[in-house]
Amino acid sequence: MTHVEREQWDVIVVGAGGAGLRAAIEARRAGARTAVVCKSLFGKAHTVMAEGGIAASMANVHPQDDWKTHFRDTMRGGKFLNQWRMAELHAQEAPERVWELETWGALFDRTPDGRISQRNFGGHEYPRLAHVGDRTGLELLRTLQQRSVGLQQEDHRETGDHEARLKVFQEFTVTRILKDGDGRVSGVFCYERESGRFLVLEAPAVVLATGGIGKSFKVTSNSWEYTGDGHALALLAGAPLVNMEFVQFHPTGMVWPPSVKGILVTESVRGDGGVLRNSEGRRFMFDYVPDVFKEKYAETEEEGDRWYEDPDHNRRPPELLPRDEVARAINSEVKEGRGSPHGGVFLDVSTRMPAETIKRRLPSMYHQFKELADVDITAEAMEVGPTCHYVMGGVAVDSETAATVGVPGLFAAGEVAGGMHGSNRLGGNSLSDLLVFGRRAGLHAAQYALSGAGGGVVTAQVEAAAAEALAPFGSPDGHAPENPYTLHQELQQTMNDLVGIIRREGEMAEALERIAALRARARHVSVEGHRQFNPGWHLALDLRNMLLVGECVARAALERTESRGGHTREDHPAMDRSWRPVNLRCHLDGDGIALERTRTEPVRPDLLALFEREELAKYLAEDELEGGRGA
Ligand code: FAD
Repeated sequence: MTHVEREQWDVIVVGAGGAGLRAAIEARRAGARTAVVCKSLFGKAHTVMAEGGIAASMANVHPQDDWKTHFRDTMRGGKFLNQWRMAELHAQEAPERVWELETWGALFDRTPDGRISQRNFGGHEYPRLAHVGDRTGLELLRTLQQRSVGLQQEDHRETGDHEARLKVFQEFTVTRILKDGDGRVSGVFCYERESGRFLVLEAPAVVLATGGIGKSFKVTSNSWEYTGDGHALALLAGAPLVNMEFVQFHPTGMVWPPSVKGILVTESVRGDGGVLRNSEGRRFMFDYVPDVFKEKYAETEEEGDRWYEDPDHNRRPPELLPRDEVARAINSEVKEGRGSPHGGVFLDVSTRMPAETIKRRLPSMYHQFKELADVDITAEAMEVGPTCHYVMGGVAVDSETAATVGVPGLFAAGEVAGGMHGSNRLGGNSLSDLLVFGRRAGLHAAQYALSGAGGGVVTAQVEAAAAEALAPFGSPDGHAPENPYTLHQELQQTMNDLVGIIRREGEMAEALERIAALRARARHVSVEGHRQFNPGWHLALDLRNMLLVGECVARAALERTESRGGHTREDHPAMDRSWRPVNLRCHLDGDGIALERTRTEPVRPDLLALFEREELAKYLAEDELEGGRGA
């Protein structure tokens, strides 16, 4: 048998972004010996790319903000499909998690009177995003790393070994969750990217914190790690995914030059006063305010502009509608022939703020455009268009503990987990989600592991995982060898063209056929060379995950015959209240994906009471309305 090294731990955290590190810190603090595995370098997770900030109702800038308002905004943004208990816990606990970060050394921007500054973002009623310029994710991750090192130093003082209770395996990719004879988690199988050596980390509890799926799409703001690994690992272990049809297309990605297409232009640009214009110079967002949001958004440019100075007596500009609305509006403008020269629209700060303010408040954007597109955003408008950004769907989890469904010992937090954001995430709500549910996942994984649950690793599973990982080096059995890069490109094109921002029944059915064909061809994927750093081999292994996830997205999108949040059907353009209580769960069924409809848990009456009945009637199904306080 192929040589496989083994180590034993209490908790394994897969992923070292914000969710993974926050989980690891909490698991270690709860007394569990904790190993963190990440396929990128430690400190280079997707979280470092987060720009705008962390949403938390600290009320530092607007005294009326509180967790209830944050909860309301989050539910509205998610079009009421959010797992409401997650949205409640998130809104309640986010401020504490931000203050905790500060005590661990995070250096946030300040208000004039010295408090943590908070900025406006789409869908948030008050300025709510704690930030560090437009580099908030970097500071968040740096702080969590610093805290991890602090814990390792404590362990060194006590045991003489920095890694006695918290160890990071960087540049290791997990390819399988292992289970004991009773179906409980018993560890993970992984390979080191540099050497190709195999390693089994045995543990009764595993936290998935692997982030998103953007690399299944052609135009994306996501980095190379986002191949849906955690989603696929959960499926393969027997845990369902929920509501995978909801994929967020951020309205503002770069559209030019082609080599940087998709790179994010942060929402802070609009939060700080940037406006969207079409080729005729019109601020077109005023034409796209949907009925459910009409009362909350300005009707004239003058009112929208006044809001920046006096938010209590004016309504916010429609450029700050939730992302799904803005992305669809841009899509329509381009389709109607009113786009910019390179197929986007114009986003302008140059006429809205002095150059020095732009450079101070949006330093990364200034450099990004200068260096990548030779555009000076202090003097001219940016060209922007929608880009695949975030997946709201994910591993189905328990709201309190982050435990997955049906696989004891498996937990999930961060972007890989579903439920929290419903059908559409508000900007800033991911970083707070990572902190709130990363902490919860780490705590509950540690408690579970230390309770003595879980059995040993089954050798046959390790052998099967090793054989699966080595398969791309074998000969493809009489079939023409398939190139992983070709298959990946074809999948990305399929997802972009057929399951993208605007969806149609026939196209999604075609996508499913193409994905099935790609999965069949992927069985004959073949790579040259050996296991030492071999990117073709790594991609061949990632492909399994992207194809599984792509199928989940397409299947669920075809099933949901309405438009809601990050799921827009041209053939079913309206939100349909009868779909509100429906979750779509994907399971692995033999070799394919099966869909199951489950009913969402009724929203607790005291939380429903935070909304006007008139507003609830726009979202809730008739029976829910009658069963709730609206009766
Ligand atoms: P990540 O930070 O991506 O971490 C995933 C980890 O999993 C990595 O360490 C990776 O190496 C590891 N991994 C993946 N697969 C495997 C595997 N098979 N084996 C081992 N390790 C694996 N959100 C906000 O709230 N505010 C913002 O301002 C904001 N700005 C953003 C800007 C950009 C450009 C982008 C792209 C996103 C932004 N987001 C923002 C979203 C937010 O950054 C992400 O949703 C969030 O960082 C995800 O964190 P995570 O911990 O779930 O995953």
